[in-house]
Amino acid sequence: MHIAFTDKNGQNGNSFSLCFFLCVTPFFTSFFLSVSVCLSLCLYLSVCLSVSQPQDGGVMFAALYWEEPDRSGHKFGPDNTTAMAKVLKEVDDHVGLLVSELQRAGLWGHINVVVTSDHGMTQCSAQRLIRLDDCLHPHNYTLVDLAPVTALIPTQDPEKVFSLLDKCHPHMTAYQKKAIPERLHYRNNRRVQPIILIADEGWLIIQRGDKLLTLGNHGYDNTLPSMHAFLAASGPGFRQGYRTAGMKSVDVYPLMCHLLGVPPAPNNGSLAQARCILSGEDCVDVALVAGVVVGVLLLLTAVTCEYLHG
Ligand SMILES: [Zn+2]
Repeated sequence: MHIAFTDKNGQNGNSFSLCFFLCVTPFFTSFFLSVSVCLSLCLYLSVCLSVSQPQDGGVMFAALYWEEPDRSGHKFGPDNTTAMAKVLKEVDDHVGLLVSELQRAGLWGHINVVVTSDHGMTQCSAQRLIRLDDCLHPHNYTLVDLAPVTALIPTQDPEKVFSLLDKCHPHMTAYQKKAIPERLHYRNNRRVQPIILIADEGWLIIQRGDKLLTLGNHGYDNTLPSMHAFLAASGPGFRQGYRTAGMKSVDVYPLMCHLLGVPPAPNNGSLAQARCILSGEDCVDVALVAGVVVGVLLLLTAVTCEYLHG
């Protein structure tokens, strides 16, 4: 989970970010610091808030990353509702502490706060493993990455290697780099390998054996609802009480740039949809309109069927 504070007025402000990994090694971007001690969230917040005071020159942008609920999602799988409810309560308490500390510092309502995640999570199983050794001999390729999305470089005839992978498993789709669907925005970078394998939701690609390393995973097709992230925002830059039907993760970057008043670098996002959650902005909520249109069509279909069947 990611939390970011922004102050639209601080054009030349400082920034810092911090990652919480278990017991904790924080990284400050402005003044690099690595401390291998347990840093309580409370202490972090007091550091953050003390440097956020506008009268001190403050920070323009602060980001905080928590590894939860990602860590528990991998370890237990999202279907383990007992374990996930416990960790989600912890995360909820952290956000509650953040809000109360911001209120205590007199900042709540004056700064923009965005709470978001970068992916969802789906349940995996030892009964849903795809073994590359069942497809072809390992001498045929160099493995670069192994996950729901697997990347490899053929070391033998590329067409033959692709052909073996292409028909290997009904729950795995093989792509040659040039044929990766445009919507995935993944085929035009020199770092993308010649063959990409994508597992169906909940399936994992391994080389051999039957060892399941994680009970939950992400990285599957971004059209799957289970892969969708969430975003909640509060502050003077946002419309109050507004709920949009959807926004793309790549739109968060131009949204942040807009709030900070800095020009965005080239990116795949757009403010077109994100504009709908901003205060004082005109927009057409395309996701919401599409949802209403689909809903009306479904209703009409249901009514027509009911009529036809008497
Ligand atoms: Zn993860």
